[in-house]
Amino acid sequence: MSEGDNDSATDRLTTGLIHHRYQPPAGFGAVPPGVFKASTVIFKDTAALRARRWQDKTGYTYGLHGTPTTFTLEERIASLEGGRHTLLAPSGLAAIALVDLALLAAGDEVLLPANVYGPSRELARHELARLGVAHRLYDPLDATALADMIGPQTKLVWLEAAGSVTMEFPDLAGLVAACKARDVITALDNTWGAGIAFAPFDCGVDISMQALTKYASGGADVLMGSVTTRDDALHQRLKTTHMRLGLGVGANDAELVLRSLPSLVLRYTAQDAAARRLAAWWHGRSEVVQILHPAFEGAPGHAHWASACRAAAGLFSVVFDARYTQAQVDAFLDTLRLFKLGYSWAGPVSLVVPYDLTALRGTGAGAGQGMLVRFAIGLEAADDLIADCEQALPALTA
Ligand SMILES: *Cc1c(COP(=O)(O)O)cnc(C)c1O
Repeated sequence: MSEGDNDSATDRLTTGLIHHRYQPPAGFGAVPPGVFKASTVIFKDTAALRARRWQDKTGYTYGLHGTPTTFTLEERIASLEGGRHTLLAPSGLAAIALVDLALLAAGDEVLLPANVYGPSRELARHELARLGVAHRLYDPLDATALADMIGPQTKLVWLEAAGSVTMEFPDLAGLVAACKARDVITALDNTWGAGIAFAPFDCGVDISMQALTKYASGGADVLMGSVTTRDDALHQRLKTTHMRLGLGVGANDAELVLRSLPSLVLRYTAQDAAARRLAAWWHGRSEVVQILHPAFEGAPGHAHWASACRAAAGLFSVVFDARYTQAQVDAFLDTLRLFKLGYSWAGPVSLVVPYDLTALRGTGAGAGQGMLVRFAIGLEAADDLIADCEQALPALTA
């Protein structure tokens, strides 16, 4: 056999493996919607290539602009949120940045709740400021004060329900009404509600954003964000910026979230119930002076939560009595066995994070100056989690 024969044989093999004649039978049905991976999308002819617009979901253009997998996830999140259009971003924070960059220009102002997700404020303080966009913080419990703050340069108001760490539930109806009266776009960080605790668009918001990293994923193994709207024109504005920024998500990540969605309501409900049991247990303890859980009477914004919500996330904070030092609270946290130290929430493993209340405190909760610990309840048995806290308590006074 000559060398040339060998070359053409391997060529045929290589090309044959790439352009193989076999096509599996159509009509495969299974429970998972399947995973499609692509950068390149193949057009059947030049007419199809020229006719294709990336702006809609009637077909495919390029992996970044959508695949059956990402379209499927977008549609399911849109339904979950009660919206019409959803865009996916590589993280919750990227989804926040997308909204900011799509809607704000030099000279504009964005208003953030004082208890806003910290990195969203950092984005405003640094990146938005560099682009000439100003920001101010408002009290999420005072709609009248927000109405007074809105000026001609105010182009976007972020809402968060409940707020991060201190968990104040805002006067959503009042805040949205104040913005609507001045024609200002409202964007809700709906990570806590997850589409389950309340229907975001029924509250009148224009945009509902979620860190799918939390409840939609539920596995502590994927980062993703979503931006959902009802309004076609607003969606197109966001989608254009989304495309120009090149924000895409990986097919395997989209698959993970698609796999988790069927159990979303079950997980949310279970973590809600377990968190309320844990919070109730802490409520009876003399070591803590305040329970920051919006479903608890006396928690800031409780009345707003009660009027707006049918459920709560598995998340709450407790404020320790000021007599306990940081070192003592740290010793308690380090003695926990089931609870792990770490950020994020809504995964299977329960988590704790200590926060410095004085550094955090904007407005809202009228707690003292003690150490704050946030509890994110996982899927362990509530009794085991209570027992874990109980066995670690002596470390507080050791
Ligand atoms: C986690 C979180 C985010 C950001 O999500 P990432 O995917 O971690 O970037 C935004 N908002 C809230 C309220 C969150 O809890």
